Amino acid sequence: MKKQRVYVAGHRGMVGSAIVRQLGQRDDIELVLRTRDELNLLDTQAVNAFFASEAIDQVYLAAAKVGGIVANNSYPTDFIYENMMMESNVIHAAHTHNVAKLLFLGSSCIYPKLANQPIKESELLQGTLEPTNEPYAIAKIAGIKLCESYNRQYGRDYRSVMPTNLYGPNDNFHPNNSHVIPALLRRFHEATISNAPDVVVWGSGTPMREFLHVDDMAAASIHVMELDKEVWEENTEPMLSHINVGTGVDCTIRELAQTVAQVTGYRGRVVFDATKPDGTPRKLLDVSRLHNLGWFHEVSLEQGLASTYQWFQENQQQFRG
Ligand code: GDP
Repeated sequence: MKKQRVYVAGHRGMVGSAIVRQLGQRDDIELVLRTRDELNLLDTQAVNAFFASEAIDQVYLAAAKVGGIVANNSYPTDFIYENMMMESNVIHAAHTHNVAKLLFLGSSCIYPKLANQPIKESELLQGTLEPTNEPYAIAKIAGIKLCESYNRQYGRDYRSVMPTNLYGPNDNFHPNNSHVIPALLRRFHEATISNAPDVVVWGSGTPMREFLHVDDMAAASIHVMELDKEVWEENTEPMLSHINVGTGVDCTIRELAQTVAQVTGYRGRVVFDATKPDGTPRKLLDVSRLHNLGWFHEVSLEQGLASTYQWFQENQQQFRG
């Protein structure tokens, strides 16, 4: 049987690299990868030329301009412009060059700031977005709507998945500028090594978050990409087609900190710094659509934190300096 030629856009990122680790083990798939230097996804002509010459069968669109709250607030143009350009270029070129299947990867920040919890897919466009990352969220919503529009107008089979908070290898472990899991793994690790009497965790410890290991995200993405078209169509609507990806389970930041302490072997005190922001009190996705489609997460938070901590220790040279 002829191998499927699968292009993973963004294969050096956290999610793209996890997808490549899994697809790389399949003998029915031939991966097609390009670094940013080899193919600039902001360049419409270059993207077109790539699709014209590569005979791609499937695309995982995991390339995105991403960043934390400070970056989103400081460079809103980069977040809306670059994401919309990359999505438009890749999705349009995929359609033009007859790519049968495409999976667009988004983010749970597409949902309104005050969405009902757990957040169903139908909460999309029901309220005002969180202002700090509105430009990024609008670009991601545009990506979903691009896929749906090509499906409606041209009968394409382009699907979208929206992950909850992800963590795992290749995450950003910057000391001040990362999400809570890499921040705490690093801080507890350093406190353990230096025998520090206490470790500071931001906020009150009471906010609740859902966390998904990126290997689970990759597995869910491949699962959704490979669902039969009839099954996918039965479980989605033409103008409400995106699928939440998460565990369906959340925990408090205090519980997370306790688990990180166990995983890193830290025995000192944990102190909560109430001068730092808590952010939204709860963010949990409703994953019944994904469960109905037959996918459930496999990596527990304890296992996922332990393996991510091991990865951090093996790779931490790159985070120094
Ligand atoms: P959010 O889901 O967009 O709020 O993303 P974050 O991962 O930045 O924060 C999640 C929660 O963890 C918030 O309530 C933070 O206050 C809390 N938190 C505790 N310690 C830290 C830390 O060192 N870094 C970050 N980013 N968040 C922390």
